[in-house]
Amino acid sequence: MKRSLIQTLVAGGVLVGLVGCGGWDTESKYTQRILTSSTTTGTDGTVKVRLPLPSDFATSKVLFRFTNVEEGQTVFVDSVESDDGTVLRRLFSDVDVNEMPTGAVSAQRDNHFNWPIQDGDADIGSGKLLVTIGAVTATGATLSSGSEIDITALLNNDPDFSSGDLQVYLHWTAGMEEDAALKADVDAAVERMIDIYAAAGITVTVTHRTQADDPLLAEGVWSRPGFGSPEGWLALSESTDDLAIDIVLVDEIAGVDGAVLGAAGSIPGGILPSNRSGVILSTTANSGPDLVFSADEIDLFGTTMAHEVGHMLGLFHPVELDFARWDALSDTVKCQAAPGCQGQLGDNLMYPTALCDSTTCLAQDVLTPGQISVMQRYGGVR
Ligand SMILES: [Zn+2]
Repeated sequence: MKRSLIQTLVAGGVLVGLVGCGGWDTESKYTQRILTSSTTTGTDGTVKVRLPLPSDFATSKVLFRFTNVEEGQTVFVDSVESDDGTVLRRLFSDVDVNEMPTGAVSAQRDNHFNWPIQDGDADIGSGKLLVTIGAVTATGATLSSGSEIDITALLNNDPDFSSGDLQVYLHWTAGMEEDAALKADVDAAVERMIDIYAAAGITVTVTHRTQADDPLLAEGVWSRPGFGSPEGWLALSESTDDLAIDIVLVDEIAGVDGAVLGAAGSIPGGILPSNRSGVILSTTANSGPDLVFSADEIDLFGTTMAHEVGHMLGLFHPVELDFARWDALSDTVKCQAAPGCQGQLGDNLMYPTALCDSTTCLAQDVLTPGQISVMQRYGGVR
């Protein structure tokens, strides 16, 4: 029987993912697939994204990047459903704002959302994964109909949630790498981070980059990801569009209190390019008033590095400093005040502050099984 042209194209794999009214483009990268499309919000300001799961690829986790391309507008994630319409999680409409499971419920121009989020979330089945998103107007006051949203989905077929690999780029700015003593101290801190992740079953590979690799790194003034000049972070993450976490090393973080050790772009963070995809770390804040790294400060810097990357992988602080907001995990205690929290959670990697006295800092490298379950599900861990 003679097949029609469209059947021939589909059978030959030329056309990929013709779904609904919008098409999806597919690209293979490393062991992952990247699907891209765009959509428009309906009259109620929301739209259900129907991600086609390739039949020849057992998708275990997906990291989405939703970008609202309208000037000043933002996008948030409302809910996740399986192919048969079973609601897997209600997020925006059902979330306890004091125990947020993902930062994707907060509207942002570039919104990164990972599924599954943690142990206990349903496996990704077959057919389609349905994610309802909403657009918010530039004033932030109302939902926005007719907003164009770009969608990128990074698909993994890594069903083993007990081990994985993570690529990290460490970007040295403004020639900092020429300071041999600093280079040695940072290398020691990187080893500390690698050890912390190894204990969680994640093998971290760090690639160093300098302005010799990328002229963007000649610039020494960097604000937090998502702040300051957005072009810097967007350009950097685009120039290293390699499914690696970008860490930018600076003397001091522009636009914040000098005591800020580091910051991550979002929870979870972008491994796909955006103006908030990355981590910034201050060598000055981490090396103390004398600007020389002691052994303790190298340890602190290594844990700061691991902490900020932890945010990128989807981890919240187990408790915030107001002691009234917590992560959404069941195995980090919901402590209520500083002394108890420091005793119960102070040694956790994601505790919100370093705990130092005049002589030493408390080691902060503990990760609970619940936290590890989040990290292992991050789409950038392959
Ligand atoms: Zn933090």
